[in-house]
Amino acid sequence: MSDNLYDLLALRFPTDRSRPCFQLPGGAAIAYGDFETRIGRAAAALRSAGVQPGDRVALQVEKSVEAVVIYLAVLKVGAVFLPLNAAYTEAEVNYFLKDAEPALFLRDAQAFLAGAAELPPDLQAERRAAGDLAAIIYTSGTTGRSKGAMLTHGALAANALALHEAWGFTPDDVLLHALPIFHVHGLFVALHCAFLSGCPMVWLNRFDEAAVLEGLSSATVMMGVPTFYTRLLAHPGLTREATAHMRLFISGSAPLLESAFEAFEARAGHRILERYGMSEAVIITTNPLEGERKPGSVGFPLPGVDLRIGGGEETGVIEIRGPSVFSGYWRMPEKTAEEFTADGFFITGDVGRLDGDGRLWISGRAKDLIISGGYNVYPKEVELLLDEQPGVRESAVIGIPHPDFGEGVVAVVEGQGNEATLIAALRSRLAGYKTPKRVIFLDALPRNAMGKIQKALLRQTYADLFR
Ligand code: AMP
Repeated sequence: MSDNLYDLLALRFPTDRSRPCFQLPGGAAIAYGDFETRIGRAAAALRSAGVQPGDRVALQVEKSVEAVVIYLAVLKVGAVFLPLNAAYTEAEVNYFLKDAEPALFLRDAQAFLAGAAELPPDLQAERRAAGDLAAIIYTSGTTGRSKGAMLTHGALAANALALHEAWGFTPDDVLLHALPIFHVHGLFVALHCAFLSGCPMVWLNRFDEAAVLEGLSSATVMMGVPTFYTRLLAHPGLTREATAHMRLFISGSAPLLESAFEAFEARAGHRILERYGMSEAVIITTNPLEGERKPGSVGFPLPGVDLRIGGGEETGVIEIRGPSVFSGYWRMPEKTAEEFTADGFFITGDVGRLDGDGRLWISGRAKDLIISGGYNVYPKEVELLLDEQPGVRESAVIGIPHPDFGEGVVAVVEGQGNEATLIAALRSRLAGYKTPKRVIFLDALPRNAMGKIQKALLRQTYADLFR
């Protein structure tokens, strides 16, 4: 049997192919049957363009149904999908093209598919083994060379099946899809759960509070990044009535503030299910569907995932091994070897601890750890206290080169307030070396497209603060 992920997904499309797959704003819909035909035509077009199994196909387009058609067609012909953020500049794109050497680089999904409209659809998917590459996802690292995480058909299938089960998806679900699809969250996590259920998606090409609130009236599950939730909370339309049709709200890709979790429960009556993942392993842990979802914790490892804390202390770098872990960085064997332990665990670079129940609590990235005067400062500990202070919406604590301490703790705060008052309030609860030496107020913290606060950029911006 072939292990092509496309076959697994298509096998789960609804028997009644007239069922909707994409529900578009304004009431139009694209049925599963129509979607399947379009994929077949796109596959024929890829083959006639000379794309061979194992070739990379790069796609840099705005989010659209056509982009999803191309993704599945790439899987179907056994090629390797390489999604690129539409926001990447020419110089960034050139790096990826040089590194990945795609056989085809598509920047206009509509035009490519228009060219395929007359082709007879290819019905047969290419045979693939579980260990064959399905996609390369370039990590969003802001420093150094971006690395291409190689994900196989087997890894993506294992994760999709585990999530489908863990989150209780059925054909009666309707998934609200407002995430970008150049990243694992919207591309693999969301799409695969929907296809494995053969359920429809409320399809939004971008996040817009009003459109999401309208979509929630017919959806049952939403996947979002934390900023989706904070933006919904800022909208008066978020009420219990507006979310009465929903069974599940999921959050990930960045830490969900406990205050957002609590405010969402109070306003909408739903406890957001937070999960943890990364390009190199898709989803690693999740809070339970049944059972307690604890704010601040990312829950339990998925079945089949071995997760441990390295370094011999209670808190340390999270190491993982399991069926969905990537098979290395594209053309970087040395970098790959550095990031795996001798017994085959991937060193995630995230710092965390497991509690007595086996729940994982993340305290940030190892590279964000601050060493001030020889003492370790975990930014999360300071951020949690800061976030409780009046006027603070969210905070980012960073280490800045300091002539005496090596690094000095600096708090960058989204919100308003008084620097001295805030420092004094923290000093009463924290050791001196952990207390920020400076507080900087911003209207908005810099974030990437997935809502992650860009600490590297902040460190760069304030590099000379103590000079
Ligand atoms: P990416 O590869 O771009 O998806 O980024 C993965 C990183 O996002 C992880 O290594 C974590 O640092 C972070 N991340 C993802 N989900 C969570 C979460 N629920 N809580 C905290 N950090 C998260």
